[in-house]
Amino acid sequence: MLATSAEDLLIRASVLNPIDAERWDFHRDGGLLIRDGRIAAVGPIERFAGTPASRVLELDGLLVPGFVDVHIHWVQHHVRGRFQMDLMEWLREHIWPEEIGFADPAFARRHAQAFFADLARAGTTMGMAYSSPHAEALRIAADAAIGDWLLGNSIMEKSAPEPLCRASPDNAEQVAPLLQELGRERYAITPRFALNCSAELMRQLGALARRERAFVQTHLAESPNEIREVCAAFPEASDYTDIYDRAGLLTPRTVLGHCIHLSEREYATLAARGAWIAHCPSSNEALDSGLMNLAAVRHHGIRYALASDVGAGPSHSMLHVMQRFLALHRRAGVPVTPQEALYGATLAGAHCLGRGNEAGNFAPGKRADFVLLPKTASTTSPAGWLEELLTGSTAELERRPLQTWIRGEPVDFAALEAATEPA
Ligand SMILES: [Zn+2]
Repeated sequence: MLATSAEDLLIRASVLNPIDAERWDFHRDGGLLIRDGRIAAVGPIERFAGTPASRVLELDGLLVPGFVDVHIHWVQHHVRGRFQMDLMEWLREHIWPEEIGFADPAFARRHAQAFFADLARAGTTMGMAYSSPHAEALRIAADAAIGDWLLGNSIMEKSAPEPLCRASPDNAEQVAPLLQELGRERYAITPRFALNCSAELMRQLGALARRERAFVQTHLAESPNEIREVCAAFPEASDYTDIYDRAGLLTPRTVLGHCIHLSEREYATLAARGAWIAHCPSSNEALDSGLMNLAAVRHHGIRYALASDVGAGPSHSMLHVMQRFLALHRRAGVPVTPQEALYGATLAGAHCLGRGNEAGNFAPGKRADFVLLPKTASTTSPAGWLEELLTGSTAELERRPLQTWIRGEPVDFAALEAATEPA
């Protein structure tokens, strides 16, 4: 019998617990013991026989860890999937003009509340998000966050609409106080991408990141047009990756969105620096940017986690991202499994954000962040069950979770409804 206390909660349900990209543990009739907002034990229900938990909850469905989204633009959530065109045109015609609105705190607050409500409703309990350049919008998002989030205001001092450049920091001394204020587990240094920053500014940001052991998020090699423009602006660099590397921006705490069109030299650099890739298959499909070369990423031993990249990504649902991950790589003839998809959307993301010991699966001691997914026709094998849960439209997938728990407490979906989708 397990030692328990009066406040323990025992949940009886099917449990799918990711271990790595190849393996998971499945308990068809499983138990999850929760104490003080953390996982106390997990296993087959027999293990909990006679356990005097004060509360026992029997649930009909599949428990998986809360989803982790390592690359999402919360300020684009309300226009997600609305425009589909080449990256540079998409940014200049639609996205940058839209982000100017986040100078207004009331507008920012409405959208931040709707964003975090929608994410919790869809089962995402942790992530790293881009904000607009405005410091106040960043603070508003940090206040509104539901779950465990790293946020960064996009640093874009040039080559963008003037109101955004004016709102953006243009030296590291304007970034350091925000890092101090939110802390390095909450604030990510966010040079938007190389075209928006000078080499000198990136060098300052790289030095700040290394000195403070801070997270860095940026974009790398998403579309051929982008690469042409970026490389023309930095003729001294040998390639796109080299621009960030020269600035000292590539560390194991750096998360690079996309990484689709890279040379062997660039893969080797990313591997040597230990940087992470935020792999965004649904976004890349929507903007027709290409598909990350998963075989090369595996070959070089580069770590990656999955991400929605809303608003280029049409949906914030990590079930949708997993669906597109499996479909697109299979279509390209690259072998992928539901195990790798679930790992990429949970534990890999937690490792990517430096929280692998804190969350990402049901290991005892970790935070009790998890999601209940419904029964399907194919509940005999966990792989078949999960694949069936990944079918459907974005609207269906966004509302597929039956319940989300954060720190062992159920999120009140009804209260969230009131905060979603402002006019
Ligand atoms: Zn992005």
